[in-house]
Amino acid sequence: MADTIIRATAAGAQIRAFVADTKETVMTAYEKHDTYPVMTAALGRLLTAGALMGAMLKNEGDRLTLKIDGDGPGTGLVVAADYLSRVKGYAVNPHVDIPLKPNGKLDVSGAIGNGTLTVIKDMGLKEPYVGTTNLVTGEIAEDITYYFSLSEQIPSSVGLGVLVDTDCSVKCAVGFILQLMPFANDETIDRLEANLKNITSVTSMYDGGMTAKDILYKLLDGFDVEINDEIKPEYKCDCSRERVENALSLIAEDELNDMIRQAGEDGRPAEVHCDFCNTDYYFTKEDLEKIAGGKKDE
Ligand SMILES: [Zn+2]
Repeated sequence: MADTIIRATAAGAQIRAFVADTKETVMTAYEKHDTYPVMTAALGRLLTAGALMGAMLKNEGDRLTLKIDGDGPGTGLVVAADYLSRVKGYAVNPHVDIPLKPNGKLDVSGAIGNGTLTVIKDMGLKEPYVGTTNLVTGEIAEDITYYFSLSEQIPSSVGLGVLVDTDCSVKCAVGFILQLMPFANDETIDRLEANLKNITSVTSMYDGGMTAKDILYKLLDGFDVEINDEIKPEYKCDCSRERVENALSLIAEDELNDMIRQAGEDGRPAEVHCDFCNTDYYFTKEDLEKIAGGKKDE
């Protein structure tokens, strides 16, 4: 089934809700980066959060970056998303192999450790919005919840889950974000809290055969729910040779000259690597000289 994000409101718009099925997206990330199970789960959760938060962006062209820096063996994660929930991401160290938790689950917090979550939102303004919060658990959902309450002052509930199959592929990836609007009344708050208490884990619901829509209705049980629309998230890297050329034309002249000299000495083209999709772009000495020439013509 194709990935989806359902955007909905409930209780007369006192609650806004986003539920995502991102299995294919996370599967693509696993295939591109050869992540070991615990990092498939870690990156998959952050990619799902990115897709959900992308769906919350208001305007065409808006984009956001989620960055986790930790002192665990996974070191860090980077995810970028746009307003259409097209996401891309990578784990700084995709090959983390640590024991499972005593309950048999992948130890995402053990792989991440202590550190920070940084959210960068580029909304076409002069300066991007940057919010950094400390990691609460390193399990990612709680860390995003904490970010929303501290940096954006929006009471939220976030659930993120990735199940990795025995062959290391992705069995399921799901997530949700529920937010209470400032005018939410006590009755709504109590009811939502009661609903959330009944939810053990998003992955168990999905694994039990529930679709994203079923999960949405379960989370919002007892409320009148209005589904606004459905978005199709996907893993997409927007890098291209042209974009890399543009980026090279923007680096300092000294640095570019260094690359030209190096390419000349080695007789081998310079390599530019895209971390998001693991594509290498090669530039010969002549290519680089052309870029440097274009720079001078400006
Ligand atoms: Zn790329």
